[in-house]
Amino acid sequence: MFAHDAIPAGTTVAGFGGHVVDSRELEDLGEAVRIHALQIDDDLFLASTPPFDSADYVNHSCDPNCGIVGSVLLVATRDVDAGEELCFDYAMTDSDDYDTFECSCGTDRCRLVVTGDDWKRPELRDRYAGWYSTYLARRLS
Ligand SMILES: [Zn+2]
Repeated sequence: MFAHDAIPAGTTVAGFGGHVVDSRELEDLGEAVRIHALQIDDDLFLASTPPFDSADYVNHSCDPNCGIVGSVLLVATRDVDAGEELCFDYAMTDSDDYDTFECSCGTDRCRLVVTGDDWKRPELRDRYAGWYSTYLARRLS
């Protein structure tokens, strides 16, 4: 998902939606649904089904320009230029290994492998303070 126009920091750029499912139900929904799912609580996920919404295509970056407010709002953490890809760090939402993957975001901060334990990393904790999904912010406090 790319910015059409310049977006000022603090702007809500998307809201995620879908059906609330647990990890067993998510597993049963298959790979195509799982890779677009968003974790919103301990063992709870928002799973959307085709046709996917543009918010379902927001990619991960290890040096993102967006963060999470509440559990489902994607908000620009800094000014975004027109044409820039909108992205967030999945460490802001994920604490389950349902979506562990090798990262190729290409940023200087790339962790190379993104896992469900990344939210615990001390350097991310500081960098993303205020941008974690509510359930992770609660765990970190
Ligand atoms: Zn990366």
